[in-house]
Amino acid sequence: MVDAPQPPLRVRLDGEALVGNWRALDRLSGTAACGAAVKADGYGVGARETVERLAAAGCRDFFVATWAEAAEIADLCVGASLTVFHGVREEDMDVALAGIARPCLNSPEQVERWKAAGGGACDAMVDTGMNRLGLSVADVRKGLLDGLKIDTLMSHLACADEPDDPKNERQREALEGLAGRTGAMRMSLANSAGIALGKKYHFNLTRPGIALYGGVPAEALAPHIRQVAFPEAQVIQRRAIGPGETVGYNAIFTAGEAMELAILNIGYADGYLRGFSGTGAAHCGKADCPVIGRVSMDLVAVSVDACAEVKEGDWLALNYRLPEASAQSGLSQYELLTGLGHRYQRLWHG
Ligand SMILES: *Cc1c(COP(=O)(O)O)cnc(C)c1O
Repeated sequence: MVDAPQPPLRVRLDGEALVGNWRALDRLSGTAACGAAVKADGYGVGARETVERLAAAGCRDFFVATWAEAAEIADLCVGASLTVFHGVREEDMDVALAGIARPCLNSPEQVERWKAAGGGACDAMVDTGMNRLGLSVADVRKGLLDGLKIDTLMSHLACADEPDDPKNERQREALEGLAGRTGAMRMSLANSAGIALGKKYHFNLTRPGIALYGGVPAEALAPHIRQVAFPEAQVIQRRAIGPGETVGYNAIFTAGEAMELAILNIGYADGYLRGFSGTGAAHCGKADCPVIGRVSMDLVAVSVDACAEVKEGDWLALNYRLPEASAQSGLSQYELLTGLGHRYQRLWHG
């Protein structure tokens, strides 16, 4: 067997930026502890690589969505706390009772299941207005959680990235109103954008995700957050086209004059979705290489008129600064990261 060569696309991952982002969010969280949401394989960049770095930097609270995700990183979380946001289904009980992580209980059914099994420490989610996961405030007030060993009582903000939305304050007050009503040792509300809403929103523990990975969900975070993921694609072919020629599927682009193109090994199957057609760009040094025509499944054409020296086999970095790439593509910053897919070589430095 001959080893397969490295693929023609890769994402460079800046571990120092990741750790720097966490330290900044930790500072901005004031006296509250700062955790890290590492669900969806660390938002696409790698949960294990993320946990290793953040645990070494002092992060002590990690969050995943499912028990399968918890099992992937549990060995790295010794001495730290790991929470499964989606709680416990019947089929999760064996692994949950083995104690690799705490379930975050979301429904009366989950609470009953955990109580009946004599489960140990857990977290609980209360729904304060998002109408997604969580127990009702009324049920918690009536004592639904009594008898459980609650580590963290949490809630989740629906509009944290819209600082002027009055719903933020209503949700905060609803959670605050439960202080002392359960035996919870800690309370937690803020995701990344919630941290920027200020001290009142921090409670005892914050739970950033997207901003760790270079997302900027709130203007106030912009000066503190650095890009972490840098996708790069290799040039598979160089091509010169003349005026009147078209490029790609459905011939949506027609050249007005002679043009130099590079065909890059990246496409919508790599999360580089068609929203980048005619709007995205790669860059070569400081020069922009705009995407020309429609993004294909595995390929995209970019104009290299501004850097004629680009040749077959060269690597070009895509513009993937998340706020800008989001504006260009119409995708959320979250989708841009979690959609990266499995064909990249993931290259960590730092
Ligand atoms: C994903 C998630 C977070 C992190 O949110 P970001 O917006 O990525 O910072 C925090 N809390 C809960 C409950 C989540 O599901």
